[in-house]
Amino acid sequence: MRPDLKERLSSCKTLPSPPGVASKIIKLANEPEIDIDEIVRVLVLDPAITTKILRVVNSPMYSLVRKTENLRDAVVVLGLNATISLALSFSLLKSLPHDGANAGIDYALYWRRALLAATASRVVAETVGLRAAEELFLASVIQDVGMLALEQSIPDIYKDLPKQSQQAAVIQRECDKVGIDHACVGGWLLERWCFPDRIRLAVSASHDLDTLSTDHEHGLFARCVAVTSLIAEVFLDDTADHPDFAPLLDAVQKHLRLNKQELGEMIEKVGILIPEAEEVFETRIKAESNTERLMEDAREILMIRNLSALQTVDSLQVQADSLQDRTKKLEESNRRDALTGLYNRGFLDHFLETAFAESVERHEPLSIAFTDLDKFKDVNDTYGHQVGDQILATTANILNANVRSSDIVARYGGEEFIIVFPNSNGDLVNVICQRIVQAFQDARHDVGTPEEITVTISVGMATQNENRSFKSIAAFIEAADQALYTAKLQGRNRSIPFDLVEKMRVGQK
Ligand code: GH3
Ligand code: MG
Ligand code: MG
Repeated sequence: MRPDLKERLSSCKTLPSPPGVASKIIKLANEPEIDIDEIVRVLVLDPAITTKILRVVNSPMYSLVRKTENLRDAVVVLGLNATISLALSFSLLKSLPHDGANAGIDYALYWRRALLAATASRVVAETVGLRAAEELFLASVIQDVGMLALEQSIPDIYKDLPKQSQQAAVIQRECDKVGIDHACVGGWLLERWCFPDRIRLAVSASHDLDTLSTDHEHGLFARCVAVTSLIAEVFLDDTADHPDFAPLLDAVQKHLRLNKQELGEMIEKVGILIPEAEEVFETRIKAESNTERLMEDAREILMIRNLSALQTVDSLQVQADSLQDRTKKLEESNRRDALTGLYNRGFLDHFLETAFAESVERHEPLSIAFTDLDKFKDVNDTYGHQVGDQILATTANILNANVRSSDIVARYGGEEFIIVFPNSNGDLVNVICQRIVQAFQDARHDVGTPEEITVTISVGMATQNENRSFKSIAAFIEAADQALYTAKLQGRNRSIPFDLVEKMRVGQK
């Protein structure tokens, strides 16, 4: 950044700054070790944030099995990183300027854009399988913060600028006036605020993704942020013409390797989420008239291919799409177990390898649960193998319904399953596993037998964190297996952490 501009920004007295609670949250986020109670103590300082977090956790955006009214439980469900990201998003949403004396920025539009991008972030994360959905939410909300800084320090920068819904016009104006755009300024500002690298980098690269190499560790994250902005843009487009999907389609094809149909589905999902997002944010974010029309256009342009304005490339695109679809389906089926639809052993091995290495490298906790159905041989012996198979399939549903989207459930063998909880500590996984045990105890399997069948499950957990590391994945799984064995010995239908097994051993000595 030019030194004179930096000087001007730095000396600006009204530069936006995070409020007290947000500063505390950022400080916590930068600490290597935080615990749940610490974060809860900070969050309760701002009842509005607490309410919003509870509202999000209980909203269909987070298809949770059980509702919670307790902040601590919400933090457990979300995980620490996710909570920090959400809390920071809400805190900044509330505290950054919503109007100003200069009013060069169309603030209403600015915030609608931020909230639309945040809404889109959930859908984008889900579509590309990005685990850090809440971080993406935060980055999407904050990606244009450089505009707020520029507005404060260069008073006439956005004066009389029409078409502020189009980023291209905004960027052009910035480059004309100060020679750089708000993405660079945003990156600079977030560095001053001590934001995590990933978010700062994504914001500064959001207008020019070529600045990050394709294999950059935060590359996918940054590309997702940029796409949320383009999605927001088509929703903001309230001109009489049909919205122009071309730049967005181009970006999702190039940067996220998605096809037209997948983009169409994303737009549809964002449209569905908007009313719910309006409730969470307590504000209107869509233009009354255009959402319906936009959806129709999306359906036509993005799904029914021969109607497309992009007709010339269509036949080639269709071929490429269907090939891509087929490859994807094939890849997906290679990862899945045929009977239960859960991930198979091969995928588990592959996933664990990455998760284990990441946990060591980034000093992040990693937990696994080894689960085994209780007395399952009796079920087969009593009702037959086919009934057993049916129950195995419903077992998969119960497991999936009780873990978070960032966790993966795999069939390890027969009636044994392993769940991997990336970036999750033991106390959190304890709660989830207890919920699983309870869910099995409560489930009545109606599989055409005279009476409904109940099958309980035993669970052994192991966690790698700053207190304990395992020398290999095999040793990690072995620890969970020992905990499972202890759960079986103690009467089944329960979950036991490996830590407890160790403590019992010490006690016996
Ligand atoms: P526990 O684990 O509580 O000690 O008892 P268990 O009866 O479940 O013990 P064990 O692990 O010895 O038996 C597992 C049984 O699971 C044996 C087999 O009949 C059944 N099983 C394993 N894979 C399948 C499968 O794919 N389909 C069906 N129907 N049954 C299976
Ligand atoms: Mg068993
Ligand atoms: Mg077994």
